[in-house]
Amino acid sequence: MAKIAKDHVVALDYKLHLGDGKIIDQSEEGEPLLYLHGGGQIVPGLERQLEGLDAGHSGQFVVSPKEGYGEHDPRGVQVVPISSFPPGAEVKAGMEFLAEGPDGGAIPVNVKEVKGDRVVIDLNHPLAGKTLHFDITVRAVRKATAEELEHGHVHGEGGEHP
Ligand code: ZN
Repeated sequence: MAKIAKDHVVALDYKLHLGDGKIIDQSEEGEPLLYLHGGGQIVPGLERQLEGLDAGHSGQFVVSPKEGYGEHDPRGVQVVPISSFPPGAEVKAGMEFLAEGPDGGAIPVNVKEVKGDRVVIDLNHPLAGKTLHFDITVRAVRKATAEELEHGHVHGEGGEHP
């Protein structure tokens, strides 16, 4: 039976919490997460710990911020004028906007606080600085097809694109 290794397609049931047991993300019942192992599609600390496991394995995996979404960078917390948001947009703490980054790509911007016409934003990933706790069951492991490796993603059972 295949073990989890580079260039394998892995199906996982997962639940994620931050140490308090409160689930913040999970795969749907009967719809495991599919990913291509070794391609950096999941956080590095989880990818490393899953290496070598068989289908059927269940376990809990703790991932440090360093091997998860990175440490929280205080330089990412900035104060900007409310006029830098789209006109008419309601700006409230806890909201997420997409801003255009220097390279033209979209960067998520989290609103931390609104103080009059000034807004405190955080450019860090919402899970930066957090220790991640995953409950995982490995549902299936198979070798990736040549086409999947060429494309860098998993195809459906009939070879179709996701
Ligand atoms: Zn493809």
